[in-house]
Amino acid sequence: MRAIVFDRPGAPLRPAELPVPEPGEGQVRIRVHACAVCRTDLHLLDGEVGVPEPPRVFGHQIVGTIEETGERVGVPWLGWTCGRCRFCTSGRENLCLYARFTGRDIDGGYAEYAVADRRYCFPLPDGYPDEQAAPLLCAGLIGFRALRMCGDAERLGLYGFGAAAHIICQVAVHEGRRVYAFTRAGDDDAQALARSLGATWAGGSDEQPPEPLDAAIIFAPAGELVPEALRALAPGGTVVCAGIHMSDIPSFPYSDLWEERQIRSVANLTRRDGEEFLALAPQIPVRSHVTRYPLAETARALEDLRAGAFVGSAVVDVASPTA
Ligand SMILES: [Zn+2]
Ligand SMILES: [Zn+2]
Repeated sequence: MRAIVFDRPGAPLRPAELPVPEPGEGQVRIRVHACAVCRTDLHLLDGEVGVPEPPRVFGHQIVGTIEETGERVGVPWLGWTCGRCRFCTSGRENLCLYARFTGRDIDGGYAEYAVADRRYCFPLPDGYPDEQAAPLLCAGLIGFRALRMCGDAERLGLYGFGAAAHIICQVAVHEGRRVYAFTRAGDDDAQALARSLGATWAGGSDEQPPEPLDAAIIFAPAGELVPEALRALAPGGTVVCAGIHMSDIPSFPYSDLWEERQIRSVANLTRRDGEEFLALAPQIPVRSHVTRYPLAETARALEDLRAGAFVGSAVVDVASPTA
């Protein structure tokens, strides 16, 4: 089968011919239709979040069909958990000590076929073409988990208006929140997209919002945004860091954290997050702004993500009947 593989940190992903994978115990084989690109792929490529065993196939927002049953499913980042550790047995499988992740520990979706544990595949809502469903599986899901960590915050800041933020903006507006979108300074396209999706205000991350925020989610991998966002919070507000990796956070005075402000991170997802979000998304309905790439150009999709060359989500079309 055609696949795109990782060799070592810093080397671009390359096309390869691999044997079609055989499902193991509890696994199913999936014919991949599409797989959305995620910033985590860049962190993996750069060796920032561990070095996967080469040749590894990245891609953890997979939409495809289970060969045996013909059912269309989504495969997310969480690929396997032990079911026994203190985290698994307390509703926190996202923190499982032995978790295995799709596209890092298990081959992912930048290939014509993938195998996945059946218990971690999600049925997908009807009415979503493949390239629309794919970004829901990490950008949407992790964003949704981060949004839930904001409680009932009415005034919500989103720092880094990319794939996750443009989906979560729609959910937040649907829930009656006011969204303040922060982009790289001068990124007019991302700011225009934010306004078109219902954001009350959009500006550069070097700007202060017109009113204090009850919560802020940081999707950009830039640690200097943490004290920035903290300074934009009202008392009792929360900063949620939603990425798997971020540059170091500069020090800041305690007075910025005082008055019960909090900083926390969000790690991975639980299957419950997936079930809840995939039930909610069609009610809004969430629509992704998608740029499509053929499988052979997966490496370019990642570099375009790094360069901020598109707004919204990028999706690799592998063999989508809806392409
Ligand atoms: Zn991801
Ligand atoms: Zn576990």
